[in-house]
Amino acid sequence: MLPPGWDALARETFASPVFKAILYGRDDFALESIDYFVGFRPEPGFLKSLPNLKAVISLGAGVDGFLKDPDFPKHLPLVRCVDPNLAREMSEYVVMHALILHRHQRFFDTAQGEHKWRQKMMTRGPGDTRIGMLGLGTMGGLIAARLQVFEFQLLGWSRSRRNLPGIKSFAGFEELPAFLSQCDMLVCALPLTPDTRGILNAEHFAQMPKGAAVINVARGQHLIEEDLIAALDSGYLSAAVLDVFQTEPLPEDSPIWRHPKITATPHIAGITAPSAALAHVEDTIHRVENGEPLINVVDLSRGY
Ligand code: NDP
Repeated sequence: MLPPGWDALARETFASPVFKAILYGRDDFALESIDYFVGFRPEPGFLKSLPNLKAVISLGAGVDGFLKDPDFPKHLPLVRCVDPNLAREMSEYVVMHALILHRHQRFFDTAQGEHKWRQKMMTRGPGDTRIGMLGLGTMGGLIAARLQVFEFQLLGWSRSRRNLPGIKSFAGFEELPAFLSQCDMLVCALPLTPDTRGILNAEHFAQMPKGAAVINVARGQHLIEEDLIAALDSGYLSAAVLDVFQTEPLPEDSPIWRHPKITATPHIAGITAPSAALAHVEDTIHRVENGEPLINVVDLSRGY
C-alpha cells in the first residue's frame, strides 16, 4: 500500500530475483504469498489476513494508522521509518512558525494587505519567551535544539525524564500542569496513543498563560478543534498553527480555514522522502532475512 507516485520506485527498488513488489489495488496476489507489508494505513483486518507475514513496515514516523486496527497482529514486529530529513523538515516548519508568531508577522501581513504602514514593537525578546515541546523524541528533540539557536527558553514534556542540554524537563501527567503553566508557545510533537489523544483541550489550554499560542504538527486527533476555536475567540489563546486535522483533507466549510488567528497547512510539515523510506524498507527486510536485530521497532505496549 504505497502513496501515489511511489509505484515505479518501489518496483525498481525491489526488482531482484528474490523479491517482488506487489502493489495493492493494482497487482493480483495470493494472501499467503506476502512476506512483508509496507505502507501507512492498512484497512483494519487486512494484516491479519496475511498468514505468512514476517514484519510490518511503516513508511511514516507515526504508527497510529496501524495500531487503530483492533486485529493488528501483535506477534509481528512493527518497524517505523525514522528519516533524519523528515525531522529536519519538521524543525524548519516549527522554527519558521515560532518566529512568525514571535515577530508578529501576521499583523504586518494584514497591514500590507490594507496598504497601511503600521509599526509594532516587539513585546518581549526570545529569552523571555518560553516554548514548550509536548514530546521530546526524534521530532521534538530536534525542533527544541533548533529553537535554542534563537535563544528561546525551552521546556519539554515526555513520558520519561529527558536530560537534554538547556531544556527544562517535565515528565508524566502529574507534571503536565506545571509544564503548561510555563508555555508561551506550545508545540505538539507527540505520537497519537490512547494517552495523548485529545491532549490539546480546553482544560489544558486554561493551564497555559493567557495569550499563549499552540502549534500542532503531530496528529489532528491530539486537538479538540472546538476547544481551540473557543479559546482563540475568547482571547485566552492568541494564535494557532495547525498542520494536522481531525478530518483530512480539512473540509472546505471548516471554520479553521477562515479563522483569523489560525494558520493552517495541509499536513506538509514533514514529508517522508520515497528514497529514504524505501531504503528503510530494504534495510528492515535485510535484517529480518539475516536474523539481525531490527531498529526503530515500535513498543506495542506504549503505542509508539
Ligand atoms: P518519538 O517516538 O521519537 O518521540 C515521541 C515523544 O513523545 C517521546 O519524547 C515520548 O516520551 C513522548 N510521549 C509519548 N507518549 C507520551 C505520554 N503519554 N506522555 C508524555 N510523553 C509522551 O516520535 P517522533 O518524534 O518520531 O514522532 C512524533 C510524532 O510526530 C509521530 O508519531 C507522528 O504522529 C508525528 N509526525 C507528524 C508529521 C507531519 O508531517 N505533521 C511527520 C512526522 C511525524 P519518551 O521520550 O519518554 O519516550
